[in-house]
Amino acid sequence: MKTRTIIGLEIHVQLKTQSKMFCGCRVAFEAPSNGCVCPVCLGHPGALPVINRRAFELSVLVGLALNCKIAPFTKWDRKSYFYPDMPKNYQISQYDFPLASEGSFDVVVAGAARPVRIRRAHLEEDAGKNVHDAGAGTHVDLNRAGTPLLEIVTEPDLVSGDHAYAFCVELHRLVTYLGVSEGNMKKGQMRFEPNINVAIEADGVEYRTPIAEIKNLNSFRAVRDAIAFESQRQIAAWTDDHGYVFGKAPNENRGWNADRGVTEFQREKEAAHDYRYFPDPDLLPIRVTPEALANFRDQLPELPQARRSRLQSQYGLLEDAANTIVSDRATADLFDAMVVAGASPELGAKQFVNTWQALAKDQGLTIVALGVSGERMAKLAILVEKGGVNKTAATTLAEVMLTRPEDPESLAKELGLGLERDAGATEAWVDEVLAANEKAVADAVANPKKAKAALGFLRGQVMKLSGGKADPKLVGELLTRRLEQLLQ
Ligand SMILES: [Zn+2]
Repeated sequence: MKTRTIIGLEIHVQLKTQSKMFCGCRVAFEAPSNGCVCPVCLGHPGALPVINRRAFELSVLVGLALNCKIAPFTKWDRKSYFYPDMPKNYQISQYDFPLASEGSFDVVVAGAARPVRIRRAHLEEDAGKNVHDAGAGTHVDLNRAGTPLLEIVTEPDLVSGDHAYAFCVELHRLVTYLGVSEGNMKKGQMRFEPNINVAIEADGVEYRTPIAEIKNLNSFRAVRDAIAFESQRQIAAWTDDHGYVFGKAPNENRGWNADRGVTEFQREKEAAHDYRYFPDPDLLPIRVTPEALANFRDQLPELPQARRSRLQSQYGLLEDAANTIVSDRATADLFDAMVVAGASPELGAKQFVNTWQALAKDQGLTIVALGVSGERMAKLAILVEKGGVNKTAATTLAEVMLTRPEDPESLAKELGLGLERDAGATEAWVDEVLAANEKAVADAVANPKKAKAALGFLRGQVMKLSGGKADPKLVGELLTRRLEQLLQ
């Protein structure tokens, strides 16, 4: 028996707009319940919707970034359903003319790029929220009703929980890079819903299990774990009962229970026609002219994947460093500013990741929130590069720079962190170490097998004696000269 998991994703991205999709109400969930509502989003009869231009523009940017075709003509449809959190009894969405379609997005898994086709992306409005208050019953909060949502649907090209995980992380990075969404998953600003089934090959016949759509995934890890669980569950269900196949057994919605690590049955899924889609008579279609489309293309920033490749090809950074630097746009911008200000990319990247990033992590901040400009970071990198301070001192300096505005060079002087360039002082350290370590000196001079190790040891002793202030290069030169003298 051979199995292959087939996964498609539906992703809802809450767009970062000031107002809702079809009315002027503020998008503000922290407001008191039902504090941001009006006749339009409350669904009062006769209230007329108006399209949020910004939401449409942001959606087109995402479509372009996902290499989609942007529809020259797109329209709005009503999706009918009855539920207390949607008082109009329909949701405005886009059915047969989505604003973007036929895209593709590369995701790197285990070092290899695996493209995922994007079927479509369309705009719709969010529903409100039912708040279940133990004892007080359930009430409805419509602050969220009418919030612009971009729904992105992939083709079933994802093959595993890990693949889906990588896709979700990369897509999240993309939308936050574009600035179209805050992307906070805990707040539901980005929701991932995988559709999963399994192709099972047994006795030369391929069977397909029914499709399950998984809900309640509020972290990337939940996406990965739920997929891994669900594909095993479906295989086991088919093994128990060969009638559990697509078309015979119903497709279903299942919810992820993170505490138990299982998916749980919610309900059987309706077919699309149950929603009775039809064009919304209150809203005009949108036409995107070639000029408008060219204008949108000009607005696209350098995207994360392109940026990562540029850091690797232009600056010769390793994949890990490039990944860390490109983790979000502000971080990547800061690094670029550091290089523009004169830091060498290689040393700059090391310091950026090992010193600054580590410092930020210690403080529970992002590197940008440390408040040190790229220019000042560059000054520290340049100081290390020209031998003004060693790496240990640079770490200390970085910490001091968080609270002091002076240049790292003057701080190094003030704090006595600069390297000792005076040959006299260094010579004295070298002599002291040579006198105290006869065995190592003998090895360095006369034992070819141990000479290299002995020299390293002696150099380490001098650095230690100097309290890290000796210039390693000068120490090396002086040591070699002294040992050569001993040979003669
Ligand atoms: Zn409203």
